[in-house]
Order: sequence, then structure tokens, then C-alpha cells
Amino acid sequence: MLDSDLVRANPKLLVFIPILYTVWSDAILTPSEVSTLEGLINSQQWLTDPEKKLLLTKLNPATPPTADELISWRTAISQVADSKHTNDTLVNLGIRMASLKGDGTISEILIKAQPSLSKIEATLGLISREAVFNFQSGRKTITSEQITHENFDVQELTKLLDGEHATLIRKVKTLISDPEFSYVDPGDLDLYRKRVLQWCKFLAEQGFGSMAYPKEYGGQNDMAAYFAIMETLSYHDLSMVIKFGVQFGLWGMSVSLLGTEKHHVKYLKDIGTLELPGCFAMTETNHGSNVKGIETTATYDHQTRTFKIHTPNEFARKEYIGNAALHGQMATVFAKLILDDKDYGVAALLVPLRDKKGKVLPGITIKDCGRKMGLNGVDNGIIYFNHVIIPKENLLDRFTSVNDEGKFESPIASDNRRFFTMLGTLVGGRIGIPRSGNSASKSGLTIAIRYGDQRRQFGPEGGTEVPILNYRTHQRRLMPLLANVYAIHFSLQYLTKRFLNRKEEDMQEIEALAAGLKSFATWNTTATLQECRECCGGKGYMSENRIEVLKNDTDVFTTFEGDNTVLMQLVAKSRLTEFKQEFGNMNVLTILNYVAEQAKTTITEMNPIITRNTDEGHLLDSEFHLNAFKFRERDILTSAAKRLKRHIDSGMDSFDAFNVCQHHLVQVGFAYIERIILEQFIIQVEATKDIGCKTVLKKMCDLFALSQMEKNKGWYLEQGYMVGSKTKAIRKLVNQLCWEIRQDAVPLTDAFNIPDACLSAPIAINR
Ligand SMILES: Cc1cc2nc3c(=O)[nH]c(=O)nc-3n(C[C@H](O)[C@H](O)[C@H](O)COP(=O)(O)OP(=O)(O)OC[C@H]3O[C@@H](n4cnc5c(N)ncnc54)[C@H](O)[C@@H]3O)c2cc1C
Repeated sequence: MLDSDLVRANPKLLVFIPILYTVWSDAILTPSEVSTLEGLINSQQWLTDPEKKLLLTKLNPATPPTADELISWRTAISQVADSKHTNDTLVNLGIRMASLKGDGTISEILIKAQPSLSKIEATLGLISREAVFNFQSGRKTITSEQITHENFDVQELTKLLDGEHATLIRKVKTLISDPEFSYVDPGDLDLYRKRVLQWCKFLAEQGFGSMAYPKEYGGQNDMAAYFAIMETLSYHDLSMVIKFGVQFGLWGMSVSLLGTEKHHVKYLKDIGTLELPGCFAMTETNHGSNVKGIETTATYDHQTRTFKIHTPNEFARKEYIGNAALHGQMATVFAKLILDDKDYGVAALLVPLRDKKGKVLPGITIKDCGRKMGLNGVDNGIIYFNHVIIPKENLLDRFTSVNDEGKFESPIASDNRRFFTMLGTLVGGRIGIPRSGNSASKSGLTIAIRYGDQRRQFGPEGGTEVPILNYRTHQRRLMPLLANVYAIHFSLQYLTKRFLNRKEEDMQEIEALAAGLKSFATWNTTATLQECRECCGGKGYMSENRIEVLKNDTDVFTTFEGDNTVLMQLVAKSRLTEFKQEFGNMNVLTILNYVAEQAKTTITEMNPIITRNTDEGHLLDSEFHLNAFKFRERDILTSAAKRLKRHIDSGMDSFDAFNVCQHHLVQVGFAYIERIILEQFIIQVEATKDIGCKTVLKKMCDLFALSQMEKNKGWYLEQGYMVGSKTKAIRKLVNQLCWEIRQDAVPLTDAFNIPDACLSAPIAINR
């Protein structure tokens, strides 16, 4: 009950309470507000002078209302504020308050006085509707009403994501949810490394490590299953995944793919069971991206039928090598093959590092790389070789061999081609890493989206607080990333299939595809996890919620298995030389000429009707999306070719020309890979039978396409492919799609079906 001096003087004065409360609620009455109010109160004919005087005391900045007084005013106003009166004003609220207190005459007086009272409200410029809303309890707004809905069958979507490996994926998930796989503190380096090794042994016992190896060596000859295992393991500890990848992927596959039968017979079985832990020692301190420049030597001595492996200088030491610091007993070492004082380029050789008891062998020096930004469960090390002698048969001789006469032999004469064929064989690593990174993105998004669905902050005055996922910026931050993760998932499935069914003539394309997708996906992981961290506020920073470790462990995915920026240039070069295959052995200039010619015939799409079309039907049409992506891809490729040609024509060295155009070339890579990702997403949507899943995937595909276009809108505007009204319409549609997908967001992450034991984040599990 309002026990105020105004009521005691005359209950009709209560009509001023909503206005007074509103002007005082920001605690500052400016001099101009005071004088306006004074004038208006003095002009109210229906008030007596003492009443006016009393009211004016309520406007004195020197004696503002007390906190208790403001609370009692607010409570009284809220009692008459009613969400049914949607067009209420402060004066109307006041009239209802006063009428409740007084007799019938009061409402008569006040209704008469309403026009002059309304003048006060209008003159003060109060946003009446907003102010009135603020008094209504249980306010419902569009923002507060958004909730999670299950508009599609989550299990159907999981089935679609898991594909033919659903049973295997379930098995892996069961295993990594076992208490033996409980996480350990990454701060305890010794314990962590031991546990990671132990986990890898458990996985080997299940036959997961040797899955891709031939059956005669204990495997299943199933590379597709190996990738599915790696992807699923990546919901768990990523040090475990990388150690697993180093042992069974890098080390095992180098023996399998670069070696020949004698190596397979001797080593593969033990590698697959982790009886023989090993390393893949390619990188040197001075040569990371530029592997061709490595300096370690493997010098052949025909008399003793041996190779001498040597580190010629301090900076030719092998660095960052996984499994080297503690557990590796052998390594595939990449070195320059020297025969009769001639350098035959890079070859791979098997070099023992430790005995069975783990003692480092003579001539080998190993140092521990120590703590890293992440992946601390992996023992990365530095290796030096001091004239280490190994037998001739330790040369992995599928592409490079030494015959019985001590002469060099190879099915590929050119050093360069041999080197790239050898590396191309190992392209599988560039499939495993992005699939692993994308799983980490899925974990991050599951945590952040579930949290966003529950966590409430702010809300309409008088209403309940609103889940943060209902806020547009939050949706804008997370929904496009969710769409990316789905898009990347399907394109990585496509890459895997292309790789598994590869023919010799497809290899260049598959390598470009792998390099581009590896870069796009792992950059996306880094960006996603940072956004997820921030989207969870302080909770995101707490180690117990796992985003920290996901972020730190996947950060280096953009660097190893090929630095992303360097890889994107490879993609661009591959795109430029793709034309070579159509024309046999053309030289670079002819290729560039051809591409430039192509440009003239292809850029015919800038039809003014299309560049201005802002109809929703058109903007949500997959054909429009794909055309826009293809246009961008073709245009960037041809303009890069033209630029390169112009520079070379003007006498610039081709190395300089490529450097001058380097930024442009990276965009060639992006445009190509974005087109591939969209194309595969569209194919997936078309192939999806379940209507609920198809509908939600179409929305996600649209969001992927439009948010990429929005990201590249500067380019589209520059090229005149779209006008400003169209890019604005795209922005609006991205907002709308984010808003619509919000209600599907939690089910969309549920479809990843990540075990709670792996997520292990209180903010994502205690729902
Ligand atoms: C944790 C970890 C584990 C690893 N495990 C292994 C392993 O088991 N075995 C192994 O052999 N190696 C391993 N590596 C090495 C890894 O593959 C290399 O770090 C990677 O290839 C990059 O080489 P780099 O570090 O020398 O970087 P650099 O090649 O020196 O690159 C540094 C920067 O220069 C830029 N850059 C380089 N060249 C160009 C260019 N031409 N144009 C424009 N920019 C350029 C790159 O984009 C990058 O940003 C590992 C590395 C790490 C960090």
C-alpha cells in the first residue's frame, strides 16, 4: 500500500506517480526537465495551489525521493500495470492508481484533466510505451519467447552424420567413455604422457591402430574406418588423438606406403599393436614448410651395404618430432640420399632410436621439446644423428632404391616429381587432421550452445531474464559456425571418399582438395573455439569446461601437416596448372594465356536483373548460391592468372611474380575450397530423405552460403556482381536464418551425439 504524503494531501495526486517515478528512475533531473515540469504543473487548472506546491517539492533535485519511496512507487504502479492494456500511457496508469484510492469523483476530474496531463508526458519526451512496458510483470517479448524445439529427429540426423560407420563409431564412443579413459590433469606432464600412451595401447588392443593396414599384418585394410575412428576419438583428449595419429598414421603409414613388402613383413604388425612405437622425422629446425631443403644426409656405402645418417649442423636437427622424447624406438627419417657423392634428393629411411628398454642408441641424441601451448600428452622431441649406421634394407624403397650394383634406381626419374609423389602418398594425414579439428569444433559448439540455451542474462523490465542464445549477437556468433561445422563435415566425407577411390590421374586434384580443406577446416576450428570460449563468458575460461584444452590442443592444427598459408598457395598453384592436363605439356605461359582467354567467355553473368534481385525466393535458391561461388572462383582464378602473366610478360622473375600475387593466390585457394564445400552441402541436402533433417540441413546450407557471401560482400560489390541493396538483403536474411536456426541449435549439437564423459563440461552436461 502506498503510504505517501501525496495520498494524504489528496489521492488524485497519485496520477503523477508514474511520471515522477519515470523521470526520477535514472536519478538525474536536468534543470530543463525541472523547469518544464514546473511550468506544466503550474498550468494544471484542476490543482489547488497547496497541491501544486507539494508536487513541486517532489521535483527538487536537492531532495530527491529516497530509495524506499521509489520502491513503494514502483510497487504501486506495477499493481495497476497490466499487459492486457497494450497501448497504455503513464497518465492512464496514474488515473487508474488515483481512481483506486479515491471515490468516483476523482476519476471524473482526472478524465477531464487527461489532455493537459498528457501534455506533460508528451512534452517530457518520455517513451511512454517503453516506460509502461517496464511496469508490467510477466512481460512476454519475442526475444524471451524463443526456445529450443525438436523440429527434426535427432537420431536420424546422427545416423546421417555417422553414415556407414555408425556401429564402429558407437563402439569407439563406448570405449572412450570408460572410466579408464577419465581425463588427467594436463599440468602433470609425466602422468599425462604415461596415460596417453596407455590409452593408445587400449586402442591398439581393440585393433583400432592397425585398422588401415593389410589383413596379413593384423589390420582390416580399412582406411575409411581408420578415419572414422580418428574423428570419433577427437571428442576425447586430443593428445591421445595426435599420439595415435603419429604412431599408426604417420609412422605406420610411412612404412606401409613408402616401404615395400620386406618392411611390411618386418614391422607393420608390431607398429599396429604399439609393440614398436615410432616417429615420423621430417621437419628440421631450419626447414619446416620447405621440406625439400632438409639437410640431414643418408650417405650410401656400397662396400658395407649401409647408410650413414648424419645431422651436418645444429639447425639440421630434427625438431618437434612426435613420440621422440620418450617412447619412439624407431623413426622414418627423411634425409638427402647421397650416392657416389651425388645428391638424389629426399628419401625416407628407417633408423632405430632406442632399444626395447627405451635406452637411446649410440650416435643418437634426443632432447625433449618440453611444455607446449597444448598437446602436452605428446612427447615431442629433437633428434640429432651422429654418423649413425643402418643397413641398406632400411631404405624405404617404393620410390627410391639402390640396386645390387650400388646404383640409384627409381620408377620416377625427376627428383622433384619423386619428392612430390612421395609426399602425395602421405596425403591421408591432411584428411585425419581436419576431421579431428572439426570434431573439436563440434565439442566446443555443443558446450557453448547448450550453455547459451540455459544461461540467462538481462530481460525486459518486469519480465524474466532471457537465455543468452536468444540475443541476436549470440546467434550471429554461433549459428554460422554451426553451419560451417556441418558444411565441413560433409565436404570432409567427400574428400575421404575421393581419396579412398583415387586413381593416379586424380591425385593432383585430391592433394589440392586435401590441402585446401585441411586449411579451411582447421582455421575454422581455431575461430570457432575462440568464439565458443567468449560465448560462455567466465565459465568458458574455467578449465573444467574444457574449451581451454580444446583451444590449446587444436591451435597447432593450422601449422602441422602443412602450414595453412603455405598449403593455400599450393592449392592455388594446382588450380592454375590444372589446365595443363587438358592440354598436355603446356608451359606456364600457355596455361596463363588459356586461363585469361577463359575469363572473357565466362564473365557473362552480371545480368542487372540478377545483380539487383532481392527476392527471398532467389536469395534462398541453391542455384543462385552456387553460381555466385563459382563466379567468384573463376573470376579470382582468371584475374590471378592475368596478373601473373602481366608480370612475367614485363620481364619479372616468376618467383617474384608469384610473390607479388601471393595474397591473390591465397584467395584463389579460398574461393575454390568454399565452392567445393557448398557444392557438397547442396548435394547432401538433395540426397537427404528424412523431411525433418532435409529441412534443417537446407537452412544450414543456406546459412553457410549466405554468411560466406556476406563475408565476401566487399568483393562481390567491387566486381559489380551484386548491388548494395542485394548485400543488405543478404545481411537481413542471415539474421533471419540465425534467428530461425536458434530453436534447432541444441538438437543440431545433440545430433553429434558426443558422450557426456568426453564433453565433461559441467556447463554442458548439467542441464
Ligand atoms: C606440436 C608439433 C608437432 C609436430 N610434429 C611433427 C612430427 O611428428 N614430425 C615432423 O616431421 N614434423 C612435425 N612438426 C613440424 C611441423 O610440421 C612444422 O612446424 C610445420 O611444417 C611448419 O614448419 P615451421 O614450423 O618450420 O614453420 P615455417 O615454415 O618457418 O613457417 C613460419 C611462418 O612462415 C610462413 N611461411 C613459410 N613459408 C612461406 C612462404 N613461402 N610464403 C609465405 N609465408 C610463408 C608460414 O605461413 C608460417 O606462418 C610438428 C610441429 C609441432 C608444432
